[in-house]
Amino acid sequence: MFIGHFGAGLAAKKVASGVSLGTLFLAAQFLDLLWPTLLLLGVERVRIVPGATEVTPLVFTHYPVSHSLAAVAGWALLTGLVYLLIRKDRRGAIVLAALVISHWLLDVIVHKPDLPLYPGGAARVGLNAWSSLPLTLAIEVPLFALGVWLYARATAPVDGIGKWGLAGLVVFLFAIYLGNLFGGPPPGVAVIAWAGQLQWLLVLWGYWIDRHRCAVIHT
Ligand SMILES: [Zn+2]
Repeated sequence: MFIGHFGAGLAAKKVASGVSLGTLFLAAQFLDLLWPTLLLLGVERVRIVPGATEVTPLVFTHYPVSHSLAAVAGWALLTGLVYLLIRKDRRGAIVLAALVISHWLLDVIVHKPDLPLYPGGAARVGLNAWSSLPLTLAIEVPLFALGVWLYARATAPVDGIGKWGLAGLVVFLFAIYLGNLFGGPPPGVAVIAWAGQLQWLLVLWGYWIDRHRCAVIHT
């Protein structure tokens, strides 16, 4: 799952208007921001097997630190606590922790049963929506569209950057998504890891847009 996570981050602005979109993206995509570094360090492993699923050629052989439920609960707690300490915003902290968890739950829907419950455990979960491209699109595209709509309604641009920066981000995310779906398997794990690191730029993009938009109170 890719744009679905960003959809969750965008949607969360509706319930946490004081939290920047950059921070919401950071939480919603935290596990997949952590994962590339763990791949590069050799802590976690992935294999590229063309045809492994209808949607992705990636086989997630070992990712207990970034994607086991117990570890994810820990990351969620940590994210919420750090935000609470820095910003003293309890509601924002709870929303951010929930976003970290949401990533794992959304991954459960699409992944093959490869998501561990805790490091070292044998049980794996995953509902395997990736067995069908139309099903994957039917889940992820509306989720992303809903997030864009909620964010666009919860905020208003204060200048051209706020307006076109958001439009550009939406188009860019969708283009990456289509590239992932139809672009053929990546040439190697290092390419996946370094491309994954580029997602930090999307977090920065979120901060940038958010500074050029203001919260809208609907009555
Ligand atoms: Zn993930």
